[in-house]
Amino acid sequence: MRRPIVAANWKLNGSLEMTQTLVSAINSHSANYDSVDVVISPPFPYLIKVAELISTNNVHLGAQSAAEYESGAYTGEVAAVMLAEVGCQYVIVGHSERREYYGESDEVVAAKFLQVQQAGLIPILCVGESLEQREQGVMQETIVRQVNTVVDLAGIAAMQNSVIAYEPIWAIGTGKTASPEQAQEVHALIRAEIAKQSTEIAEQLRILYGGSVKAGNAAELFSQADIDGGLIGGASLDAEQFNAIVSAAS
Ligand code: PEP
Repeated sequence: MRRPIVAANWKLNGSLEMTQTLVSAINSHSANYDSVDVVISPPFPYLIKVAELISTNNVHLGAQSAAEYESGAYTGEVAAVMLAEVGCQYVIVGHSERREYYGESDEVVAAKFLQVQQAGLIPILCVGESLEQREQGVMQETIVRQVNTVVDLAGIAAMQNSVIAYEPIWAIGTGKTASPEQAQEVHALIRAEIAKQSTEIAEQLRILYGGSVKAGNAAELFSQADIDGGLIGGASLDAEQFNAIVSAAS
């Protein structure tokens, strides 16, 4: 049995005040669902505050990105080892917004993944196709390339302590969710790709779905055989919605 994960990605949203109320609501609700790992990924300045506020064993701290370097003259960057030092356990890498708006290539994403792993943290590797790629029939090769660039650099054993999030770009923040069948098809494809190198690692790898997950559609998505939870953007800013998604994953 793979332990489900529901991970919040606050993106560029929040305030100290919001941090207080949202984390406290997540703490008390998640305590009743200890079969689920809950991850909160606030913007960098709030990490230490969220770390202090987390008071429930199954609630963990996550970051939204990390540098591809360990240290040096890289103004504005944050190293994975620093994230570990302030209490992070998970780091999102390769989110489509980072790939699209900040030009992160598959190779840069793979380098970031490696840094996160080497710092002892669990990467949440995001992969996903654009609507254009889906319509052109290159969805599968896009996903396989994104996954394999990381596996080629980090090695298959690295996937043992990792999470993959399938996030079709056309479903992120658009209100358009992939149907449970569409999502399941890609999750199964990812697991099969990993299984080519290790069936054992493929079986235990947790693969999350992300893209307009809400309280109303979470249970159906999570009931699919290869969907092990969700990466939640918009709905993670609303305690009631997010907590309902945690319940759906239990
Ligand atoms: C995300 O950005 O990871 C995401 C899934 O966003 P949303 O839930 O808002 O679609």
